[in-house]
Amino acid sequence: MTQVAEPITDRPVGATGATVPHWIGGRRVAGTSGRRGPVFDPARGTIAREVDFASVEEVDAAVAAASAAFPAWRATSLSKRTEIMFRIRNLVDAHRREIAAHMTAEHGKVPSDALGEVARGLENLEFACGVPHLLKGGYSEQVSGGVDVYQIRQPLGVVAGITPFNFPAMVPMWMFANAIACGNTFILKPSEKDPSAGIYLGELLAEAGVPDGVFNVVNGDKVAVDRILEHPHIAAVSFVGSTPIAKYIYETGTRHGKRVQALGGAKNHMVVLPDADIDMAADAAVSAAYGSSGERCMAVATVVAVGAVADPLVEAIGKRLPKISIGPGSDPDAEMGPLVTGQHRDKVVSYLDSAVAQGAEVVADGRNHELFKGSDGFFLGVSLIDKVTPEMDCYRDEIFGPVLTVTRVGTYDDALKLVNENPYGNGTAIFTRDGGAARQYQFDVNVGMVGINVPIPVPVAYYSFGGWKGSLFGDLHMYGPEGIQFYTRGKVVTSRWPDPGTSKVDLGFPRTR
Ligand code: NAD
Repeated sequence: MTQVAEPITDRPVGATGATVPHWIGGRRVAGTSGRRGPVFDPARGTIAREVDFASVEEVDAAVAAASAAFPAWRATSLSKRTEIMFRIRNLVDAHRREIAAHMTAEHGKVPSDALGEVARGLENLEFACGVPHLLKGGYSEQVSGGVDVYQIRQPLGVVAGITPFNFPAMVPMWMFANAIACGNTFILKPSEKDPSAGIYLGELLAEAGVPDGVFNVVNGDKVAVDRILEHPHIAAVSFVGSTPIAKYIYETGTRHGKRVQALGGAKNHMVVLPDADIDMAADAAVSAAYGSSGERCMAVATVVAVGAVADPLVEAIGKRLPKISIGPGSDPDAEMGPLVTGQHRDKVVSYLDSAVAQGAEVVADGRNHELFKGSDGFFLGVSLIDKVTPEMDCYRDEIFGPVLTVTRVGTYDDALKLVNENPYGNGTAIFTRDGGAARQYQFDVNVGMVGINVPIPVPVAYYSFGGWKGSLFGDLHMYGPEGIQFYTRGKVVTSRWPDPGTSKVDLGFPRTR
């Protein structure tokens, strides 16, 4: 793909060329706070543009636009809202390459990966096109003499989504598709590292006929996030990002009376049993560990090699590493791009040093890649660290880079103990040809999403996505049926249409029999 992203910018600023604005009330709104942050071109290692950071007043303006739009939007018929959802779906489908190009430009992921992200986001729009069916309530006739009871689900009002850098289009779609289909109005606070995809989506939604104020984007940092968490007119907050911030969002948002779902970080274990097909397991480990430079919350971070599988598996993984093609998104052969920022790459590199100091064995060191040494871009080759134990930093922390660790254990029970004692519980996979062992793992493991010979078990849009333990704060998983539940609240109506003259005073508690 050779698509080039048209920068989403409003006005020239200094040496960086331009600034990414907000999207409020159906139009681009240039920031007035005077605060901005850099947006890098990760493949070149330069600042490509800046992004406006919203002030409290600018967040308030977005909330005012969303509040003003809410009454008419929730009263818009389900068939009309469905028609608009279909049009959004079609426009996103038609503009896959432009959306992907924004991601390649600011996140650095290669086009094939970026297009995969758009495709998975699109699934959520398609699910939300079924909203008339999804919002059907229940009806019980004649619960008592002449009395019926029925339940309806209604939107919450203004809701907000705060999203991470690694999926700048898909994660917003996880949230806003169901939120607006259910009749809410929405405020997106994208990652400040790659904000253009969010503004571009705002423009597509406007073209699809989404009324002004139904979908808004405020760019920014902690100032914008804190205002969202405190604002009295925001009813619910969805968050995806790292665990410490997810915990903060959940605690602060719920303290301010909001419904909150906050998805956090991960350390996904891929357990390989001795009977597994070594080539299949090695292909899966390499694909899932290094795709998107390891910057995926469902990336395989650590292989748990059980028994005698360890030596051949490490060898098979090692053999595949030199074949991975690393380069900028403009290189049609590149399978893996740079990391998102230089600062993040340096942090990832630090785990290679600590692993050696703490006694692990570095089988492949990404610093040997020519683009690490000879490019200004934020490139790092792929690394494989063997003989990692649970107390080492490279096992304990979420590295979020192209580094795969291997922990060797003796038995299935040792593997299960390791996974269940880990503080994260986002995804996990087991590779085996033994159906009974796989089923036992599915039963035993304390993790929210499980793959059986599938390394990245991201649920399809008609199920819901969510981890356990430190990977999710809140009750409801994201998107799918639980997303509909999150963005609506139930109302139960008890109804009677008695004939005049049949009533009498009765101070007893209402009874059905
Ligand atoms: P992050 O937590 O740094 O940022 C996420 C969002 O929170 C951004 O919009 C950011 O502006 C905001 N934020 C950051 N620091 C803040 C602070 N101190 N106060 C208020 N707001 C703040 O995460 P990231 O680096 O953008 O994304 C990577 C992380 O996201 C990884 O930990 C990854 O596992 C996680 N993630 C999880 C999932 C999931 O579904 N569980 C999906 C994608 C990413």
